[in-house]
Amino acid sequence: MNPISTLADLSELEVYLKSFFGHDSFRPGQRKIVENALQNRDLLAIMPTGGGKSLCFQLPALLKPGLMLVVSPLIALMQDQVDSLLENGIGATFINSSLSPDEARDRARDILGGKIKLLYVAPERLLTEKFLAFLEQVRSRIGISGLAVDEAHCVSNWGHDFRPEYRQLKVLRERYPDIPILALTATATERVQQDIISQLNLRQPLVHLASFNRPNLYYEVIPKQKHKYSQLLKKLQSLQGSGIIYCLSRSNVNELVFNLQRDGINALPYHAGMEEFSRTTNQNRFIRDDVPIMVATVAFGMGINKPDVRFVIHYDLPQTLEQYYQESGRAGRDSEPAKCILFYSPSDIYAVKYFIDKKSDPNEQRIAQQQLNKTVDYAEGTECRRTIILSYFGEKFKGNCSQCDNCCDPKPMEDWTIEAQKFLSCVARCGERFGMKHIIDVLRGSRAKKVEQYGHHLLSTYGIGKDKTVEEWKNLARSLLNQGLMNETTDGFPILKLNKRSWEVFRNQRRVEIPVLSQKDKRLPNSAPREIESEMLLDRLRQLRKQMADEQSIAPYIIFADSTLKVFARDKPTNLEAFGRLSGVTEYKLERYGDRFVSEIRAFVQEQKLPTPLPTSTQMVTLQYYQQGLDIDAIARARNVQASTIVNHFSELIEMNQPVEIDRLVNPKLHQPIVSAIEKLGDVSLTPLREYLGEGYSFNDIRLVRAWWRRTRSH
Ligand code: ADP
Ligand code: ZN
Repeated sequence: MNPISTLADLSELEVYLKSFFGHDSFRPGQRKIVENALQNRDLLAIMPTGGGKSLCFQLPALLKPGLMLVVSPLIALMQDQVDSLLENGIGATFINSSLSPDEARDRARDILGGKIKLLYVAPERLLTEKFLAFLEQVRSRIGISGLAVDEAHCVSNWGHDFRPEYRQLKVLRERYPDIPILALTATATERVQQDIISQLNLRQPLVHLASFNRPNLYYEVIPKQKHKYSQLLKKLQSLQGSGIIYCLSRSNVNELVFNLQRDGINALPYHAGMEEFSRTTNQNRFIRDDVPIMVATVAFGMGINKPDVRFVIHYDLPQTLEQYYQESGRAGRDSEPAKCILFYSPSDIYAVKYFIDKKSDPNEQRIAQQQLNKTVDYAEGTECRRTIILSYFGEKFKGNCSQCDNCCDPKPMEDWTIEAQKFLSCVARCGERFGMKHIIDVLRGSRAKKVEQYGHHLLSTYGIGKDKTVEEWKNLARSLLNQGLMNETTDGFPILKLNKRSWEVFRNQRRVEIPVLSQKDKRLPNSAPREIESEMLLDRLRQLRKQMADEQSIAPYIIFADSTLKVFARDKPTNLEAFGRLSGVTEYKLERYGDRFVSEIRAFVQEQKLPTPLPTSTQMVTLQYYQQGLDIDAIARARNVQASTIVNHFSELIEMNQPVEIDRLVNPKLHQPIVSAIEKLGDVSLTPLREYLGEGYSFNDIRLVRAWWRRTRSH
């Protein structure tokens, strides 16, 4: 395709979007950014994770002459993006410290040969003498179309991931003032934005600030009960796909993995205390869908570009809401529905406080405490969770998102004034010297040693609360704390204390309303048969995708995204033409994978006795020529198309059980060897079959016999 040269061509952008990336339309902001990039304007794009930042520089890179330099801080991330681009048939490569000198030299040659449109580099490498000299060659021979700075917040020490090397990028601006800079980040704070603009010396950049709302994410908080592990197990059984479970400490990670594995759940650990090798192995197994669940500390996630994570569970409380947003935001980067679940117990607060208390600077301690309070507000809040998160980023959200537990299942409020009076008077009678557990023991008439030891079994409040469970009393106590109707000491030994407002409750001057626990787990309504069918097919397509990914040692999502598989399962295309039209299918992928997916879908449709697919009109024309006695080459000449197109028609006609005789198309002597090869290697792609069979067999022969073999198997 030719580079876009004039403005009028901008109307074609959607065409390029489809042919290079397979997407049907731009996400909000993408088009504007691409247009401006094509006009060589500096840019600052701030979009949440999964917003689609990469496309904002990748598409301009393909449409402009020359090489786009992409600065990226993490080797794993580079590798992943380059793999995805190559998988779409786009010339991309990276240069970093993981390469041997020979590899680096080969890549440099490809670049100077104009084969590469995007070059990923680590910042420290970019500014070496040697690289700068190479860059000069690139500039004079093929040109540099732009400098994309990914994770641009790394330039700012106000961000959460400052990298001093990023500051040096200014040198490039000074050297090549004409090359536009595209800075991209997911960090939203105003301070960081200003820092990026000044540190990189951006010139009147177009600033695109996307909303931080991630509409496909469902937010939920689960109050931890005594058996939190069984709660987790139950939750996991209701979830599908890949997920991450975050824990606070390495030992929590190890323990949870041990338990999950014991209970037959396939999970792997990841934390900074592990050997680098096992970490990388586990990470790859997770990315490639060998193992669905990763149990990890915060060490996991930065630079992991798995778009199809379906849920992120926090089994312990995160320290800040920003951290929670970033970590939970690793779910659903592909914009498909995903869940963010926080398991919460007020006692988790003490674990976080322990970290806060270790900070030496009192100012930092205060800030951390404040941030912790925000996290707790989120966890305990009864209003729309999305509203709480977005307000943290200064965004106003109208509430009632219908995609969070509080919106979907508002907790009923009940008048618990009498219970509150019982509880508070028990606190008073115990001399305001005990914690929640002890007070509840006394109320429920427990025989605990401690109760008798203090003579609390003789109090008038002993046993007056047997009608409520421990959890119900706890829930009341939490609400009393939340609503400021009672205090709790915060020195690590939480003791309940009365305050002015507690006395108002006693004197009936104040009513106490609390959100009560709702136990019921809503059942999913029965799916319609059609949906069940699509679900079954989806499962099979997932398996096929996994198998094909393993054959090439790549991650399954690189072949097709989850959303694309869903479209296949819904539309059930039974020929390549229909398949190629679907969103997410590029020409390249059609050629490479279309055949096996279409064949799987067709087999499914036949097995399920769904309406059988009919040949398309172009296939019918081929069939007519065939019935007139023409062979493949003659039909191709008559129709003025490639012979391989006609072979495609025939193999699909055969699989559709149309009257085509294999003997007329392929020399009968070749049948048996080809069938044996398929039975030996499995229904893999053509290349390995061809390699196995050797010179005497053409791709066309193999394709046709394979179609015939598939038909005999499915009938
Ligand atoms: P970010 O870098 O902002 O986290 P990515 O660039 O990795 O996000 O994109 C996230 C996902 O969204 C990828 O799977 C990508 O293929 C997909 N995506 C990006 N743009 C579009 C689009 N216009 N239509 C459909 N999917 C898109
Ligand atoms: Zn909501």
